[in-house]
Amino acid sequence: MNTNKRIYLLIILIAVILTFLCGCNKKQSNNNDTAVTYEGSAYGENGMIIYEDGLLAYYDYKTGERSVVCSRPECSHQKYDSQTNPNPSCAAVPPKNTTFEAGVIVNNYLYMFVLPSEINKMDIYKSDLDGENRIKAGQVNCGGIIDKAIVYKNLFVFTGKELVKKDNEDELSVSTIQIKYFTGIIDINTLELVQIETYEKHQISQSYYVYNNVLHYYYMDENVYEIRRVSLSDFTVLEALSLPMKNEQEKAYCVMDKGYLYYIKSNPMQSSPDIRRTDLMTLEDEIFVSGIEIQDGTLIGISGKYFFIHSNESKIPEETEWKFVIYDSDEKTINECDMHYSGVQTGLVTHLINLNEEFILLYKFDEGSKHASYRYMKIESLINKSYDFVDINVIY
Ligand SMILES: [Zn+2]
Repeated sequence: MNTNKRIYLLIILIAVILTFLCGCNKKQSNNNDTAVTYEGSAYGENGMIIYEDGLLAYYDYKTGERSVVCSRPECSHQKYDSQTNPNPSCAAVPPKNTTFEAGVIVNNYLYMFVLPSEINKMDIYKSDLDGENRIKAGQVNCGGIIDKAIVYKNLFVFTGKELVKKDNEDELSVSTIQIKYFTGIIDINTLELVQIETYEKHQISQSYYVYNNVLHYYYMDENVYEIRRVSLSDFTVLEALSLPMKNEQEKAYCVMDKGYLYYIKSNPMQSSPDIRRTDLMTLEDEIFVSGIEIQDGTLIGISGKYFFIHSNESKIPEETEWKFVIYDSDEKTINECDMHYSGVQTGLVTHLINLNEEFILLYKFDEGSKHASYRYMKIESLINKSYDFVDINVIY
């Protein structure tokens, strides 16, 4: 397997890891604002908004309680049905004849992004948190939202798509439709969209991260692997950062946290790799921890003192034996964290969302069904194989 392919596969493997922490030491807050969205579901520090089977619902992590985004008395919350319920009266049902893309909470308002039947248009609806007083607040040129998006202050940063007609040189044949992707920013206050960059190929979640009012994100195509940077004050594109090497052949997958780019790099002087980091301002590179006790691995997330790692413990160079471990950078310990202890068959790719420095949300989609299982717990509880968690099951 060539190096590019290997990196690509690895990135695909870990692209689902989402992180909240944005360079600031946040204390747990009580607000419901969304921090990150992934495939239409919106995650905040205390709860999530899920579009499930035609209705929007809010789930509180701590209680596991589900509440439909509708407070109308005696409403039975019926979803749209062209035969039996063509004009739904429930506030949790998205506007008629639209396709739901995402619903986010910003400054205690709910913003719903939906696609009307018009091509490459996206409508934005604004309402109270219980769905009341819904108005169509704006429209932007966008054909949909994919993968991960983040909310940073009043900005919604996302990967959008648009359908582009590709003219065929042979005049007799029909022109074909092609999908283009772009990094977009919607100012929630003005509901204007700025398209930062358009690309033809889409390979990964872009891992949007803001530090010092500069948006950072991964960019990859066949030959280019870098972190691109955009100033959020005037949307100017700044010089990109090239990705460091994991070893002599491979680029490292990096995690941005508190103003640094962290990555795992093998060290020819010793049998175990180092965690290194690059300062995003000065670009100075240094060893953060020397010799963590794994054979090889990829950093996939950071939450406070905890480093989430996919480690490879295979003794045969051509094979891989992945494990999910959490490195505690205070205690300097590696903790293997598979969830079999609690009867959960997660496999390797447990998706995780860092909610704050204490709590995480783990989740998995059951293959072939419209079902997702979420688990809210302390990182420490996961390390200690504790049964202190809240499980939430969602049917889409
Ligand atoms: Zn209702």
